[in-house]
Amino acid sequence: MAQQQAELPEETLTNTDNNRPAWLSNPMDWRPIDRFILLGSLVLLAPGLFAIGLIGTLVMAPEFVSLSVAYPLLGLYLFHIAILLGYIFVAVKRRRAQNDWPAFENVIIGGFILDVMVSSYLTGSHFTEGLLLLFLGVNITSTLARIEKIRFSYWFVIVTLMIMAIADFSGYFKAAPLMERSLFHPDGSPVLGWLIVQVTTATTLSAIIYLCILAVSRWVERENLYREMSTIDGLTRLTNRRSFIERGQNELARVQRRTAETSSALACIMIDLDHFKRINDTWGHHAGDAVLVAASEIMMENARRYDEVGRYGGEEFAILLPSVTIEVATTIAERLRKKICEAVVETDGHRITITASLGVACYPGPGINDLNDLLKAADRALYNAKESGRNRVVIATTSTDVDTVANTLSDSSS
Ligand code: GH3
Ligand code: MG
Ligand code: MG
Repeated sequence: MAQQQAELPEETLTNTDNNRPAWLSNPMDWRPIDRFILLGSLVLLAPGLFAIGLIGTLVMAPEFVSLSVAYPLLGLYLFHIAILLGYIFVAVKRRRAQNDWPAFENVIIGGFILDVMVSSYLTGSHFTEGLLLLFLGVNITSTLARIEKIRFSYWFVIVTLMIMAIADFSGYFKAAPLMERSLFHPDGSPVLGWLIVQVTTATTLSAIIYLCILAVSRWVERENLYREMSTIDGLTRLTNRRSFIERGQNELARVQRRTAETSSALACIMIDLDHFKRINDTWGHHAGDAVLVAASEIMMENARRYDEVGRYGGEEFAILLPSVTIEVATTIAERLRKKICEAVVETDGHRITITASLGVACYPGPGINDLNDLLKAADRALYNAKESGRNRVVIATTSTDVDTVANTLSDSSS
């Protein structure tokens, strides 16, 4: 699962990273090798803190741990730390020339699982803290590594835990082989060595939980950004064409469910700015953009809360008006036409006036049976408004026959 390095148009970004230095940008957007360097550094926490805990126990309460298990285990932690540091070192050197390094990713994931499972089995906490550690590790890792590997690791852990459970209950193996003595005194209080192991585990868990919160918040941030980018037009902040159509389909389905009731209608107004190309040609693209933004604002100001105003194309807009009849929609379109006509857009020292042509259609209507028919009918009415002189509203009569301009409410002189 190669994570995409999307080229994001500047204006579409919700700049959540505004006040952050560049290196603190969302790690999910980093190149794979950089993500693995971060992940490898985070995973160092596990053998690092485990080793500290074990050394603490060996110094303060050596009688409680089996030395024949403790030393090899310490060796495993140190070996794990050395391997990770080695990979991180090489990755830092390679990162300029190399984008990805799946072997490093495997070492990080595999090493973490091995480390936590061995430690938790030896301390007898594989069904409690060990499992929790693995679970939290999955949370962080899944935002930075390939999800297939995490899924595979999950099943690997489940099978290993089952094998451990069989080993536990077979009676052939000593439970918690690291622990030399009972973990509790006869009075029930925990022995010091055990307490140190517990405190180390709790410290590791707290650190990892905090990293999880960070990872999840970055994930949510990115999710919101991509949702916004996929539904909102970056320039005008209106709904983009794709999500406008999606909303239209939902609204139409709602109206169709309500056909027996009165006033179950869905109107659509298509709006196209007149001679917009001239604005670009005369005052430049930047002024053209300002006009598009101003026109969008007028449409938003005149829409009701449940209307959907979308940018349908370059200088073409569409408004969906649920529960509005063709008559009411025409009145609204006419009011909108006047507002656009009266507006003066001041940009770069110029005062620009514009006009728009509007087409109105309504479901249900003659020949209008679905959203496609509705949009087409409104579009043909708009085309008619253009053909008959612009700066006017034309109502669609049928989806196939809107060539008549008999319904033109206004002419360009109004
Ligand atoms: P008509 O009255 O027939 O609609 O004429 P028009 O000039 O408005 O229509 P035409 O389709 O010939 O030109 C539309 C222009 O809109 C062309 C394109 O460069 C411009 N345009 C499209 N999107 C944008 C945009 O995001 N910003 C700017 N500034 N211009 C845009
Ligand atoms: Mg136009
Ligand atoms: Mg156009």
